[in-house]
Amino acid sequence: MHLYQNQTLKIYNSLSGEKELFTPIHEGHVGMYVCGPTVYSNVHLGNCRTFMSFDMIYRYIKHLEYKVRYIRNITDAGHLTDDGNVDNDRFVKQSRLEKLEPMEVVQKYTVDFHKVLEMFNLLPPNIEPTATGHILEQIEITQKLIETGFAYVSNGSVYFDVLEYNNRGLNYGELSNRNIEELLANTRDLDGQDEKKNAADFALWKKASPAHIMRWSSPWGDGFPGWHLECTAMSTKYLGQRFDIHGGGMDLKFPHHECEIAQGKACNGTSPVNYWMHANMLTMNGQRMSKSTGNYILPMELFSGENNFFEKAFHPSVVRFCFLQAHYRSILDISNEGMLASEKGFNRLMEAVANLNDLQAGTESSLDIASWKTACYDAMNDDFNSPILIAQLFEAVRYINLMKEGKESLSTTDLETFKKAIHAFVFDVLGLQNENELSANNDKLEGVINMLIGMRNEARANKNWGLSDEIRDNLLELGIQLKDGKEGTTFSL
Ligand code: AMP
Ligand code: ZN
Repeated sequence: MHLYQNQTLKIYNSLSGEKELFTPIHEGHVGMYVCGPTVYSNVHLGNCRTFMSFDMIYRYIKHLEYKVRYIRNITDAGHLTDDGNVDNDRFVKQSRLEKLEPMEVVQKYTVDFHKVLEMFNLLPPNIEPTATGHILEQIEITQKLIETGFAYVSNGSVYFDVLEYNNRGLNYGELSNRNIEELLANTRDLDGQDEKKNAADFALWKKASPAHIMRWSSPWGDGFPGWHLECTAMSTKYLGQRFDIHGGGMDLKFPHHECEIAQGKACNGTSPVNYWMHANMLTMNGQRMSKSTGNYILPMELFSGENNFFEKAFHPSVVRFCFLQAHYRSILDISNEGMLASEKGFNRLMEAVANLNDLQAGTESSLDIASWKTACYDAMNDDFNSPILIAQLFEAVRYINLMKEGKESLSTTDLETFKKAIHAFVFDVLGLQNENELSANNDKLEGVINMLIGMRNEARANKNWGLSDEIRDNLLELGIQLKDGKEGTTFSL
């Protein structure tokens, strides 16, 4: 028996606009794809909110004992800047600015992305494919779309024929609720110039100008893939032509996800996704957080306190807690006051969790733990309502304090159930980390390293160079570097 067999999870599907009962295609298995970052610059806090929302969703589905294959890609090619100018490929532009190879730009910001997500305690996806690693698959899909009449070649580029798709009754605009007439009338032709049949047609493959250094050969000449195609290629390859969940930020609904649906239906004859999920935006000062407007903060600036928006530094777990206090489909505006309040709440919760260990079971229960636990599951089953779950966890804090004061009690079995459920929801599902526990672990680690430095000093004093080198090298293998200086030996992690 698996946990999911006792729960009725409902997911808000952006395609139907309704909360629907979640039924995976293959019983007990879930395929989930989330659009990853475009790694041409550091991820900002807004990007992190979206990835964290899907981390919480992934964690809960795993908690329900589904076997999940979670794919989150890395966009490392083909994402043009907003002005649509082909020479303004984000990577090419950034590589010129930083005087780096485009792939150096990709590596630099992929490393930053991973580091930030690890600090926020996000679980890694099962596969993290890159657009540049799937050029062949993208060329294959493009070829198939040309052969079946859904796409056409024009001046070395290939475009998806939106009108043709719609004329075949496939309903372009179904996700974003736009109709084709409106789209044809209102789309400004930014990047196709005179090459497209219709302004609303989108690129599957773009011809590379001589200055465009990120290029691959194709049946249509040297070029690079259109942004929307990579997600179709990678999701199909790893999850199949139809899979359970596709996620991303709200701003990706159109055109990115609309185009993915069109590509999938045209290429494979089936709508690619059963449940489309969209996470809402993080705003600051009431405005959407975005690199292009300058209204953004980097996670590291928030953790270090080196910024002009917040009066102090905040621990990543506090930021995580703050984000999860809002439902993933609601806009969240971060402010200094909001963060301070979240910090207070987070500390109160962690203190109570720490006190759990000291609670003694009584002979019988005066609290209804079964109902409390059901309320926690009900919250998460209702389209991952993390704020309601957190409210239930504060109800648990109240219980813990009452038990501490001896005003309430729990039987041995109920106390065990209570502890297990709190740990599961706080640490496994919400992914919070206990700040005090983390710093206690750091203290312990520091103590152990200093002890080893002492032993190495003793070995050196005894001219036992073999042992001294062994200690230094073994630590280095673990990523701990010793530095010998005038003041003695120091270390860096
Ligand atoms: P990008 O690297 O621009 O492709 O964005 C990565 C992810 O961050 C996408 O899912 C976006 O929808 C999401 N995103 C961008 N800005 C924000 C924001 N202000 N709040 C939440 N998510 C965002
Ligand atoms: Zn995508």
